[in-house]
Amino acid sequence: MLNVLRNVWRRGRALPVEGFVFGRPLVVLQSDDWGRGGIRDREGWDELRSMGINLGERNYDFYSLETAEDVGAIVSLLSRHRDSTGRPACLGMNFILANVDFTKVSAGDFRQVHLRALTEGLPDGWNRPGLFEAYKEGISAGALSPALHGTTHFCCPAVERHLHDSGERGVLLRTLWKAGVPYIHWRMPWIGFEYSDPGRNGHETFLSPETQEHLIADAVQTFARFFSKAPRSACAPGYRANRSTHQAWAKRGIQVAQNGPGSARPPHFDAHRETNHLLHLYRTVDFEPSAGQEFSVGACLQMAEDSFARGIPAIISVHSINFHSTLKDFRSRTLRLLDEFLIALESKYPDLLYVRDEDLFDLVETGKFESMQSVVQVQVTTQTFEAGAISGRRRA
Ligand SMILES: [Zn+2]
Repeated sequence: MLNVLRNVWRRGRALPVEGFVFGRPLVVLQSDDWGRGGIRDREGWDELRSMGINLGERNYDFYSLETAEDVGAIVSLLSRHRDSTGRPACLGMNFILANVDFTKVSAGDFRQVHLRALTEGLPDGWNRPGLFEAYKEGISAGALSPALHGTTHFCCPAVERHLHDSGERGVLLRTLWKAGVPYIHWRMPWIGFEYSDPGRNGHETFLSPETQEHLIADAVQTFARFFSKAPRSACAPGYRANRSTHQAWAKRGIQVAQNGPGSARPPHFDAHRETNHLLHLYRTVDFEPSAGQEFSVGACLQMAEDSFARGIPAIISVHSINFHSTLKDFRSRTLRLLDEFLIALESKYPDLLYVRDEDLFDLVETGKFESMQSVVQVQVTTQTFEAGAISGRRRA
């Protein structure tokens, strides 16, 4: 049986997708952009406004950085939601492991990017008392599960090209960095994503395999130091990952590759499974209340039900901004809506299981995973799905 499946995987992605189907409704929460700063606080906001930046045009202008209270409120909500085995709902948090060291960059006259890893604390001027402890308490409580996003969200070579330039882009970048703000992506998409350089002429290319391998090795090392354990799941910034990214992840012990919403693909192993032993997961529910008032819990429930009807997990995408409260209170509404969403799921599917990415990996490998000091078995079979359209171009 396994050999037959391997042959199907080897044939690649153009064919109908061979994926995994699960015997119980499984719920996964995946959340990007933890640990990375945006606009520091109200003072930083006012400073930028006084420099002529018209903040407030889009919600991502209000992206800041979570506080210990934000994280505590999530943990408190998730801990109240238990699955049929008594396990709490769990938020998979994809971390950016370093922020810009603005003091060093400025001392070096903006010639190159200097970073400050989370293990060394936040940049000068950033104040988030108790935040790192709050992450760790939530992880110990089983309500949070850290995973890898990257070292930076932006593409370093792209940023360094503009750091010193005298044009509009360089001026904007230096203005933000002087105010302790790394970037506001929608205002400057030319900074790219960590492994993907948008190029001088808008011709996007991936960084070389060697560069990606170096970046990923560094990120995994910092992650292991910060969380005292190695990451098992990863999501590339901007969902920009290619075969080299996957290879570098697999080499560093990553077992799960997270992909963005829109493709409706079932969980499946990498087409190059011999070198990249990675389980690919695709988000199936966009739970992003910060995106606007038109957000609907009902629509999200329908998307989750559609996933269960196909036998695949409901993989819910909810970015960290939805839980921020420093510049604008996104958190209260998100937690209220998430509570409503989880209550509805639990009541309609009393046998649902809250699982993490790595539990799905264990399930497809062994048919079971560990939960609350017990072992949970779930029937896993394979099925051929019609290939869906791949989007892979959404925010991550
Ligand atoms: Zn992201």
